Amino acid sequence: MDSPPTRAARNRYTVPSTRYNGIESRGMQTFYIETFGCQMNAHDSEKVIGTLLSQGYQQVAKPDQADLVLYNTCSIRDKAEQKVFHRLDEFKRDGKGKVFGVLGCVAQQEGERIFERAPHVSLVAGSASYAKLPEMLVQLETGNRRVTGLSLDNDQAFDTPFTKRDNPHRAYITIIEGCDKSCAYCVVPFTRGPERSRTSESVLNEARELGRMGYIEIQLLGQNVNSYRDPSPAGWDFARLLRAVGEVDGIRRVRFTTSHPRDFVKDIVDAIDDHPALCNHVHLPVQSGSSNVLARMQRLYTREEYMRRIEWMKNARRDISITTDIIVGFPGETEADFEQTLALLDEVQYDSLFSFKYSRRPNTAALSLVDQISEDEKGRRLAIVQEKQRAIQIRRNSDLVGKIEETFVEGYNQATGQWIGRTSQNRTLNFVHPQFAAPREGATLSGTNLAGSGANLAGTSWSVRVTRAGPNSLAGEVVI
Ligand code: SAM
Ligand code: SF4
Repeated sequence: MDSPPTRAARNRYTVPSTRYNGIESRGMQTFYIETFGCQMNAHDSEKVIGTLLSQGYQQVAKPDQADLVLYNTCSIRDKAEQKVFHRLDEFKRDGKGKVFGVLGCVAQQEGERIFERAPHVSLVAGSASYAKLPEMLVQLETGNRRVTGLSLDNDQAFDTPFTKRDNPHRAYITIIEGCDKSCAYCVVPFTRGPERSRTSESVLNEARELGRMGYIEIQLLGQNVNSYRDPSPAGWDFARLLRAVGEVDGIRRVRFTTSHPRDFVKDIVDAIDDHPALCNHVHLPVQSGSSNVLARMQRLYTREEYMRRIEWMKNARRDISITTDIIVGFPGETEADFEQTLALLDEVQYDSLFSFKYSRRPNTAALSLVDQISEDEKGRRLAIVQEKQRAIQIRRNSDLVGKIEETFVEGYNQATGQWIGRTSQNRTLNFVHPQFAAPREGATLSGTNLAGSGANLAGTSWSVRVTRAGPNSLAGEVVI
């Protein structure tokens, strides 16, 4: 593929009096981006930001300071989708002189209809087209008021050398994009297209480079991360890749999300047992405890098959923390089905879960199912799930009081005077440190140079004794 035109080259095409959005253009210099939705979107935005910076744009903190305003959107539930249209409405009148772009899942799903609903939008591009972003920017700069990138016909993952990572210690790596499943409620196969995996070589090169740059944690990302299949002749599966990333110099923690139960093999559990750098946490969305509902959802596993995977984890040498996603009120979910979901929570004892009311999504198979459940009833079921899970978490977290956990520092909470830490099991463990009470303003830490009481501990790890437990976090003190 031709390399993208640079900003300098593009400027050759820019006509100073170009008109776009109906006004005289001064050329775009600055951009603002807001991201909605999942970690995949957050990481896509890091790549989009890196691409824009490499083209000479400057990022600004507020939309009113920007020439180019981008929304990287989520359409997994109706509420998420509405958010972006509210944002765009705010600029319907006073957005003159700016160029607006809608990226991500809403862009892919709504396509050119967005131009009708929000005529001040000039760019609509789904994630499968981000590699063409530089070309699309040229089109915008040369005055094109309707630029689209909506093709899903792309067998490559979006891999760019320009990623602008947000966090200096933890880095995301997308290893697989898209989804080949067809769950009856889900828009992702329509918005992110078919599965495309990166080669194991390119993933490992990126991981090694991150290790050399001083990152200590890597999160491997994919809508179904464990459906990964190396497209190169090496042909590695996910467990093989996980083991290799778990061996990369300098990388002390490796996480991965999200795993699909159908593709969750025992080898993944064995890899976690064998490699201390692989975190002992697995997010394994079940959606429902009823095999009938799972079949109607087209989830490709039964409750029993799911529970077999839970058993592998419970029988592992390491204490693997398990979390999940639940959907309540899927069409036709009876009270008895719902009771089975509650019983599953009792049986598995998750450390945390995300729970959602079923949301009707365009193009999905579940739209045509009869027996839609009322919003009130979905709300009632959701509250019951959340209350039950809260009780489970209080119990499970209080079992940890007195235990010592290796904790990586992510930041400092001025209000509570505690360092914000995270355990390998992905629990938040906030703690106090007798020598390092608080970071000095602007303090950073390099290597193991902890001299001075105002050091910023972000990126360091400590043994912390848990002294208190709440439903969503732990508190403790450092063990010296
Ligand atoms: N690929 C992952 C899997 O299959 O488990 C899930 C990825 S999806 C982006 C994240 C979560 O959103 C799902 O696990 C599901 O619980 C929730 N979700 C997706 N579509 C939904 C819908 N139409 N209504 C409510 N929740 C939904
Ligand atoms: Fe959506 Fe199902 Fe694909 Fe997950 S596996 S992204 S829930 S279609």
